[in-house]
Amino acid sequence: MYKIVIQKFGGTSVEDARAMARSIAIVRERGITRRTRPLVVLSACAGVTNALIKTSELSLKENPREALTSIDQLEARHARTARELLEEEPLVRDVQQALRAIWEELRTLVRGINLLRELTPKRRDQMQSAGERASSLIFHAALARELGSSREVHLFDAREFFITSNEFTSARPMQTEIAKRMKKIRSSLAKGAMGVTQGFIGSTLTGETTTIGRGGSDFSAAIMGVATEADSIQIWTDVAGIMTCDPRVATAARSIERISFREASELAFFGAKVLHPETIWPAVEKEIPVLVLSSKEPEKPGTEIVETTEKDRSMTGLAIKRAIILVRIAGQSGQPDAAVQQIVWGALAESGALPLAVSLSVDSASFAFADTAVIPLLRAACEGLAGIDVQTERALITLVGPGLHSQSGIAARIFRALGRTANCEMISYGGSESAISFVVHDDVASRVAKRLHAEFFE
Ligand code: ASP
Ligand code: MG
Repeated sequence: MYKIVIQKFGGTSVEDARAMARSIAIVRERGITRRTRPLVVLSACAGVTNALIKTSELSLKENPREALTSIDQLEARHARTARELLEEEPLVRDVQQALRAIWEELRTLVRGINLLRELTPKRRDQMQSAGERASSLIFHAALARELGSSREVHLFDAREFFITSNEFTSARPMQTEIAKRMKKIRSSLAKGAMGVTQGFIGSTLTGETTTIGRGGSDFSAAIMGVATEADSIQIWTDVAGIMTCDPRVATAARSIERISFREASELAFFGAKVLHPETIWPAVEKEIPVLVLSSKEPEKPGTEIVETTEKDRSMTGLAIKRAIILVRIAGQSGQPDAAVQQIVWGALAESGALPLAVSLSVDSASFAFADTAVIPLLRAACEGLAGIDVQTERALITLVGPGLHSQSGIAARIFRALGRTANCEMISYGGSESAISFVVHDDVASRVAKRLHAEFFE
């Protein structure tokens, strides 16, 4: 009996024939082992989902010509990828033919949308699902050819087992139903077969195509990992895991070997890119290790995301968020002013905008926002009650580490690293046990981050 490993490849890992060939080599080396069999979960080729969304919208124009041209372009791109990757006839022709059915379906959809001048979420999902269906067709054919007739490689249509709610374009996966329907897949892989399927797409209980929201294929991989009780989940992307810092800022940045879910979430919240950690929570919660790896540099160890890590490490990573707006609101009494606080938080609640950091004083409060939209609301709310001062061109720097609270001397090291030149305009600490954030002027942000990185990670 083999254990299942989920291997999810993102858009850049399948963007063209070269990328697909690299990813197929990864399946052979890291998916098919003495104890494991891979279930490959694919994204659309990079850029294709965007193009499909654009196409849906172009279908509403009086003349659907542009929408149809865009489908021609997608068809040409996929046909080229298939030709370059598969090389031999009749395989190339067979795959191109199967792809053609997808594009024909889209052309019919475009005409329907155009005729009715109506683009429903349901139609959007039919259109958007084409990217994953096309990439998986090509990938499956190439993997099956590569492995030869000795091995079974199945192409599973996610719409047959990845059952979701009917909230088209942001449908919610139904875990129990999915687990039930994946039983067959599970047992065929346990016997030694391999599988290729699509992320991001699914269907309702009544068989209508859905998608689960942009960037959703990591979430698909996590749900499928849970449903098949996978041994581990490998997320193959174009960076070798979660980094200690943006490498464009600190050249010495390296990937973090192991990180807790909480820390990964904090880093993402405070500006580090890579993946949205919440999407892999279902797997983390079931203690299935999730690895983030680079398909361009597969030899690098990447990052393992686990439920909790050891508390003895002081620092895990550093995030920078640019274009921060620092807002200071001051009451006029010089007394603790609950009314002003209430008004400010009321305005925020109404707007749905949350500050990234907050700091309170006797009659004033500072907030760091990532979005200017909230400013007019706050100005209106404060009118005649409190003064409001808005500073733009700021940056928020956040250090994340599990032992921030329990270790002495960390604050001193941070302030030493800030040095004399950088003016720290606000600090937020204690909101969580594992993050400390401060606001500096954008001009000095890179310099400060570099120094902090040197202090804690080099
Ligand atoms: N192809 C989809 C998107 O670009 C899903 C994904 O790649 O995760 O949003
Ligand atoms: Mg994508």
